[in-house]
Amino acid sequence: MIDFRSDTVTKPTDAMRKAIASAEVGDDVYGDDPTVNRLEDMAAEMYGFDAAIFTSSGTQANLLALMAHCERGDEYICGQQAHNYKFEGGGAAVLGSIQPQPLANQADGTILLSDIKAAIKPDDVHFAHTKLLSLENTIGGQVIPQAYLAQAQTLAFDNKLKIHLDGARVANAAVAQNIAISDITQYFDSVSICLSKGLCAPVGSLLLGDERLLTKARRWRKVLGGGMRQAGILAAAAELAITEQVERLSDDHDNASYLASQLKAFDEFEVDFALVQTNMVFAKVEQGVDIRRIAAELKSSGMLISPGSTLRLVTHADISREDIDVFISKLKSLLR
Ligand SMILES: *Cc1c(COP(=O)(O)O)cnc(C)c1O
Repeated sequence: MIDFRSDTVTKPTDAMRKAIASAEVGDDVYGDDPTVNRLEDMAAEMYGFDAAIFTSSGTQANLLALMAHCERGDEYICGQQAHNYKFEGGGAAVLGSIQPQPLANQADGTILLSDIKAAIKPDDVHFAHTKLLSLENTIGGQVIPQAYLAQAQTLAFDNKLKIHLDGARVANAAVAQNIAISDITQYFDSVSICLSKGLCAPVGSLLLGDERLLTKARRWRKVLGGGMRQAGILAAAAELAITEQVERLSDDHDNASYLASQLKAFDEFEVDFALVQTNMVFAKVEQGVDIRRIAAELKSSGMLISPGSTLRLVTHADISREDIDVFISKLKSLLR
């Protein structure tokens, strides 16, 4: 299968399967899993934090961050398009009694600093306590400028807010700018990172922060059923995700550019080139094109896309340049 639906569909590498098979393990709820401990220490060191915890998913890492920063009746400011507002089942509200305050994302993925400032609520019985600003990088495949992150950090600090990064794809943002991941994470009090997206781990995310925050997060992780036992089986692959899979992302970015340039030749699609910054291509499907039929025909030829009025095509480790050529030529024959 050539699967363009997401970078979550990658299979673990051979090196990961070997590391999984030979991982030293213990009971991580007792803090006894040496492979989990090594992963957490390594990640904290690499990304410039006191501590890290390994979680079962990015959704869980974000929820732990929100629940550790905010109490019942507090709120977090985020984008309307933020994953931890729009795509996580309202978990912060459902499970944390935390109110989201979503604000418009601009075309470049940022939130206007003036909008953030205006949304911070004064200490008054009518209002939830504004505690946290949550940003996302990359967002919709777009890289948030470093200068913006610095300004957002200052704004948060000046207003006594904490600042969290949903960095599910922060490695893509770093590689696209040719900087270290820590150059991005330095602006935040906490960061979540997905290891099971472009980085090929089968399962797992990280939450980074200071000791006090992560002690709370560790407690909530257990409460939410996320305390895992011999999790070193998973952490062994996760370690290779952060040590061996980051630089490779530049291939995915090159392949996304290539795919976008190939799609440009089709009258049936309109590619937004401003959005092609990392491993995602967005193509508007012109009226009258039966994209569901095309998706079904592609599927019978071993190619998967998510049909919709705008296609999101995602490149990853299991899609090569040749796969893109195969896809483009099949698309040509289907549209002829
Ligand atoms: C995928 C994703 C998540 C959640 O990760 P899961 O592991 O799927 O729960 C969080 N934030 C962003 C930006 C994502 O893309």
